[in-house]
Amino acid sequence: MIRANENYQKLQASYLFSDIAQRVALFQKNNPEAQIIRLGIGDVTKALPPAVIAAFHEGVDEMAKDTTFKGYGPEQGYAFLREKIAAHDYQARGADISSDEIFVSDGAKCDTGNFQELFAGDIKIAIPDPVYPVYLDTNVMAGRTGVFKEGRYQNIVYMDCVKENNFMPQIPDEPVDLIYLCFPNNPTGTCATRAELAAWVDYAQENKALILFDAAYEAFIRDGDLPRSIYEIDGAARVAVEFRSFSKTAGFTGTRCGFTVVPKDCTVFSGKGEPISLHGLWHRRQSTKFNGVSYPVQKAAEAVYSPEGQKQITELVSLYLENADIICRTVEDLGFGYAGGKNSPYIWVDGQGRDSWEFFDLLLNRASVVCTPGGGFGRCGKPYIRISAFNSRQNVVQAMERIKEAL
Ligand SMILES: *Cc1c(COP(=O)(O)O)cnc(C)c1O
Repeated sequence: MIRANENYQKLQASYLFSDIAQRVALFQKNNPEAQIIRLGIGDVTKALPPAVIAAFHEGVDEMAKDTTFKGYGPEQGYAFLREKIAAHDYQARGADISSDEIFVSDGAKCDTGNFQELFAGDIKIAIPDPVYPVYLDTNVMAGRTGVFKEGRYQNIVYMDCVKENNFMPQIPDEPVDLIYLCFPNNPTGTCATRAELAAWVDYAQENKALILFDAAYEAFIRDGDLPRSIYEIDGAARVAVEFRSFSKTAGFTGTRCGFTVVPKDCTVFSGKGEPISLHGLWHRRQSTKFNGVSYPVQKAAEAVYSPEGQKQITELVSLYLENADIICRTVEDLGFGYAGGKNSPYIWVDGQGRDSWEFFDLLLNRASVVCTPGGGFGRCGKPYIRISAFNSRQNVVQAMERIKEAL
C-alpha cells in the first residue's frame, strides 16, 4: 500500500492568496465598474531592464548554433556569473566570499525550502512570527514539528515580532540550533542594524548554531549604515548561510535566478560533535537533485552587474522605494502606526484594533484596493496588513488617494 507522508497532513492549508482572490472576485462581480488596484501579492510589476534583455537574447542566439550551444552547465553555476557575484556583492563590501562559495539556483524559494534537508530531524528551530511561510512549512513537511495548536506548530521556537520589540526577532530563552532570519523583512519591512546582526552571529558562535539569512530584498537597502549581507559581520562566515535572488532586485520573478552562499568555513556537527563541512553537504545535495539554471538566464543575470545593468536596476528599485515612501506618507497622515517602507518595498500597517481581514475588507470595499492580511504570515500578524510598493506610480498614487478619501 502506497502511504502518504503524513507530515503533509499537519500543514495548515494556506488559504491566504486563494481567500484574497475569492474576496476580490466577489467584490468585482458586485461592483463591475470598480477599478481594483492590487497592492497585495509580493510580485514585481516592471519589465526586465534593457541590459538584461539584451544579454538574455544573446544567450538564446548562442543556443541556436552548434559551435556556441551549451548543454549541462557547471554544477554550481557558470563561473562568469559566480565571479561577478563574489566581486560585486561581497568583496566590494568587505565580505571575504569567493566565487566557489556561491551556488547559483533558480531562486531563493527553493533554496530556503531545501536547505533544511541537511540537518538532523530533531534539531531545535527558531522562526520569526510573522514569517515568509516557506521556512516553516518545509520543516513541517520534513517532520520536525508536532501538530498545529492555537495558531502554532509544536516543537518550533517562535520569535514574536511585535510593536514592543520594533518587530525584531529576539534571541530565544531556550537553546536553538537553527535560526531563520530575513532582512529587509517580508512581511514587516524591517531591517537589522550591524549590532543586531552581530548579536545573532555571537549567539550562533557560542551555541554552535547556524543562521539561515534570507537577503532577497537587500537591493532595497539605501541606508549606508545598514548591512546588506550578513558576511559584513565578523565571524558570520563560520555560522551563516545567505540566500539571495534576482527576483525583487532585477525583476526575475518569472525568469528565475538566485543564489546561495555557503562559506567553506561554515561547520555543522555529527552526533559525536565532529565538524562536517556544510559546503560539502550542500554541494552533494545540489549535484544530486538539481541540474542548474539555463544558460541564457545566467547570461541575463550576469548583465545585472554590468554598468548599464547596475544603473537600470538602481532606477527600478528606486521607483518601488519612492512608491513605498508615498504609501508611508499616506499611512502617517491617516494616523496609522506602521513599520517598514524604508529600505524595503513593504509597509506593515497597524489596524488600530481591527483584525487583518476586517481591515482588508474595508480597503477593498471602500477604496477598491487589495492588500495582504497580516494574519496570513502568522499569529503575530493578525492585527496588521501588508501593503506592497510593487506597482506603477500611477496606481500607487491613485490607491493612496482613494484610501485617504475612504478612511
Ligand atoms: C520573494 C522572496 C524570495 C525570492 O523568491 P524567488 O524564489 O527567488 O523568486 C525569497 N525570500 C523572500 C522572503 C521573498 O519574499
